[in-house]
Parts: sequence; structure tokens; C-alpha cells
Amino acid sequence: MHEPPFVRDRAANERLEGKECGSCGYVTIPERREVCKRCGEYPDWNDVQLEERGTVQSYVVQQRLPGEFETPLPVAVVDIPQEGNGEPARVYGLFTETDPDDVEIGMEAEADFRTMFDIDGLPVNSFKFKRPRGDRL
Ligand SMILES: [Zn+2]
Repeated sequence: MHEPPFVRDRAANERLEGKECGSCGYVTIPERREVCKRCGEYPDWNDVQLEERGTVQSYVVQQRLPGEFETPLPVAVVDIPQEGNGEPARVYGLFTETDPDDVEIGMEAEADFRTMFDIDGLPVNSFKFKRPRGDRL
């Protein structure tokens, strides 16, 4: 059975919880999937708790977007470690409250939870990244 990709339970809305492939260890977040996109198996998926901070692997600064977005807007690929062993989750996300000139490969990024949009009046929370407070260049 398929579920919509953005339906998440309360726990997953308030902390970074990933799903780890029981076959190869690949971690997916936030989307739910049945087939592992790395090993191609239909594994059992294990819940894994992720740290709140990760490391920027790559980013772009978007300059031209529809009117409701403020530009320039950085978007980054961030590797977020699991608590305990296991491989990090590779997460794609928007930055907020961060000067685009302050984003660089290798910097720490902190996940900031917020309501992104609502479906039929129910708020849907997700996260954006920001430069951790007190971490100045
Ligand atoms: Zn796998």
C-alpha cells in the first residue's frame, strides 16, 4: 500500500527520524518508500534517530523563483549522522535565516522545524536548514 510522501506522524514531525534499509543500511528521509533506491530490495525499514546537525556536501543558490519565494535562496545537500552507528542520511533542503554568502561546503547546518504548508487545515511540518546560532565565520 502506498501512502502520500508527506504524511508523517507526530514523532517524525518534531525530530529527524529516518528509515534505514534492513538490507544495505541506506537511510531515507523524509520520503517513505518500499523499494530501497540503492540496493533495489524490498527490505524491512528500521526507524533511526538522526542528529539535529549535519554537514553541507553541496549547495546551490537559487536566484529566480516564483513570486512567493524570497531570493536568493540557498538549497543544500546535507549529510546528517545517525545517533549511534550506521551511515548518515543524505538530505536535500532549503536554507532559512542564512545569508547565502555564509553557506559553504563543509559547514554545519542545523535542522529547523516549522510548518511548511497545510493540507485541509492540518499543518504539515518539515524542516529547513540554517547556520547554527553562535557559529559565526
Ligand atoms: Zn538497501
